[in-house]
Amino acid sequence: MIIAVDGPTASGKGTIARALAEHFGLPVLDTGLLYRAVGYQTQLNHGDPDDAADALVACQFPASLLDDPALRFESTGSLASRVSVHPPVRAALFQRQVDFANQPGGAILDGRDIGTVIAPHADAKLFVTASAEVRARRRHVEMLSRGVEVTYEAVLADVRARDARDTGRADAPLLRAPDAMLLDNSDMPREAAIAAAIAFVETRLRGDG
Ligand code: C5P
Repeated sequence: MIIAVDGPTASGKGTIARALAEHFGLPVLDTGLLYRAVGYQTQLNHGDPDDAADALVACQFPASLLDDPALRFESTGSLASRVSVHPPVRAALFQRQVDFANQPGGAILDGRDIGTVIAPHADAKLFVTASAEVRARRRHVEMLSRGVEVTYEAVLADVRARDARDTGRADAPLLRAPDAMLLDNSDMPREAAIAAAIAFVETRLRGDG
């Protein structure tokens, strides 16, 4: 069984993907981490994230980089969103994601283009979203709890900029697949969103959804 979980930044898709992985006993891949690694490696190389050639070189990042806490930084998310617009970067990361999706026993992947490009044949697809304001508020609270001093307005501006870049790019834009369940959790507690996701996948598994 392959489960595709897509959605914009700070939508809770990672939380939902991990909860589904635990519930169904499947391995999970946070594909955003791959783009974050490329963005961060571009910076380590003193390259320009807006330059396709510099970003492509950074696709050769060492595997150990995936464990670097710096990948979780907000600034790395912005770098990731800049390098991810380059088609050669997306092509370089493509096979690794496809292989993960097609491993025996199944898998869950979360990202932006899983249900549309990486695993269009997925058994269940979810598009997890929430309003930009709700996502910014959640991210703001989370950043303050980590001691990062930032204003809500700055976080909201960043969320909007990332949405615009992710939905506006020509190659594999952030897009809800026509057969994806829309899970807008703007007004939903986390546990309710997880329960709805599990119920949807179970419906798909029974073949009656
Ligand atoms: O999901 P996360 O916020 O970690 O992703 C960081 C950035 O990587 C996104 O803003 C997006 O531009 C890019 N990305 C992508 N395709 C994916 C996953 C992430 O373009 N499948």
